[in-house]
Amino acid sequence: MLNPREMTEELIKEYIDDKREEFIDFLVNLIQTDSYNPPGNELNLAKIIKNYLDKDGIKNEIFKFGNNRANLVAYLNNNFKFKNLIFNGHMDVVPSGNVSEWKYHPLSGEIKRNKYIYGRGSTDMKGGLAAMIISLKVLKSLNIKLDGNLILHSVADEETIGDEGTEWIIKNISNSIDCNFTVIGEPTGFKPLPKSIIFGERGHLQIRIIANGISSHSSFPAMGKNAIYMINDLINNIDKIDDYIPKVNPPITLDELKQLVSVTFPDEQAFIKFYNEQPLIQNFIKVFTTLTKSVTIIKGGIKDNVIPNICEITMDFRLLPLQKTEDIISAIRRIINECGYKMKDQIEGENDIFFDYDILLDKEASYWKNWRDSEEIKLFYNIVNKIYLQKPYYFLFPACSDAVYYRNSNYCEKTILFGPGNASLAHASNESIELNDFINSIKVYALFAYNFLKKKENIL
Ligand SMILES: [Zn+2]
Repeated sequence: MLNPREMTEELIKEYIDDKREEFIDFLVNLIQTDSYNPPGNELNLAKIIKNYLDKDGIKNEIFKFGNNRANLVAYLNNNFKFKNLIFNGHMDVVPSGNVSEWKYHPLSGEIKRNKYIYGRGSTDMKGGLAAMIISLKVLKSLNIKLDGNLILHSVADEETIGDEGTEWIIKNISNSIDCNFTVIGEPTGFKPLPKSIIFGERGHLQIRIIANGISSHSSFPAMGKNAIYMINDLINNIDKIDDYIPKVNPPITLDELKQLVSVTFPDEQAFIKFYNEQPLIQNFIKVFTTLTKSVTIIKGGIKDNVIPNICEITMDFRLLPLQKTEDIISAIRRIINECGYKMKDQIEGENDIFFDYDILLDKEASYWKNWRDSEEIKLFYNIVNKIYLQKPYYFLFPACSDAVYYRNSNYCEKTILFGPGNASLAHASNESIELNDFINSIKVYALFAYNFLKKKENIL
C-alpha cells in the first residue's frame, strides 16, 4: 500500500512520462530560439516561456531591459508565508562558434535516435531551464496543494556577468520574499561519473595586463622598448603568484573531495582503482583545492618591421574562497617590479615604459558552509538517487554560476546546482543533451518541490 505522499509522487512521475513528447517539443522550441549572448536576445525566449506558462494560468511577468533583453519571474501561487523555493535558469547561451564544425545547425534542435537533442544551449542550459518551467506546469496541472511557493527566476546575462539577470532580480523583484532554498539548473553531469549535486564553486577573476614600451624601427631595436618582451618577462615569472599570495586552506580538502566522489563506487577499492587510472579525473578533483591561472589572450605588434610599443594579455584566475582579488593584484605588481618595470601609478615625469591593468571580471567564490547538516540537501539527494537509479555525489562546480548572487548576498546561502546534461559539452560544438536525462530532471525538480513545500504532517 502506498501512503498519500507516495501516491502523489507516483502521479507526478506518471504524468511526466505521459507528456514526454510534449515536454521534449517545448525544449526543442527553446533551442530553436536565438538567445545568443552577446548580444543577449533573451526577450525572444522570455516570450515563449510566458506563453507556455500563461496557458496554465501560472502567474508570471517579463522585465525588459536593453535591446531585446529580458528577465522573467513566475510564481506557482500567491502564498509566500510558508517556505519559498526558487528555481533559477539562464535563458542566454554562448554563441555557436564555427557553424561548419556542427553536425546539425546549432539552432536546429535536431533529435537523433530518439536519444539526444542537439543544439546550442541544449545542455547549458535550456535543458535545465525547460525542466524547471515544466515542473511548475506539472504541479499546477495536477492541482497539487502545497503549503509553500515555487518561484522561477528565468534570467538573462549569465554568460556575461549576471548583474543584469540574477543579481538584478534578487535586488529588485524578490528581495521582499524570504528564500528557503534555491536550485540552479546548470548541467551537473561530469562523465564518466554519475550526476552530482553542487554546493560551492571557485571565484573567477579576469585581468587584462598591458605593457607599454616604445616603438622604433626594427633595424634599431635598442632605440625602442619591445612590449612583447616586457610581457614575456611577466609570463616567465607568473608562477611566483603562488608564493606571493597569503596561504589559505581550501574549504574542503583533497581527501574529503575524493571521499565525496567515492560514494558512487561499489567500494573504496573500486574508487581508488578508477582514480589512479584516470589522470583527467585526478585533475578535475584537484583543481578545487588550489588557485589556477592561465594566460588566455595575447595581443601585440602592428607590423613585421616595427618594435611594438603595446602588448597585452588577459589572465584568467580561479580563486578559492578566502583568496582575494587585491592579493592577486598586489602579487602581479610585485612580480612586475621585480622584473625591473614600474606600474603606471609608480612612474614620475616623462616615462613611457610602464605596466597597467584593468579588471574585466571579478566574481567571488561561493560556498554553502553548513551543507553537511542540511536535511533539505539530503532530501534532494534521495530524490536524485531514486529517479536516476544511481547514487549521485556532492561536489563543487568547476566553472562559475549565478549561485554567488544567492549565497554571498545573504539572500539564500542554501543554493545548490543540479541539472540535466553533461557539463563537458557546455559551450562545445555539437552540444547535446540526453532525452532521458532531461525527463528525469523534470521528475527530480517536481518531486523535490512537492516534498519541500508540503508540510510534513500533511504528507505522512
Ligand atoms: Zn550555464
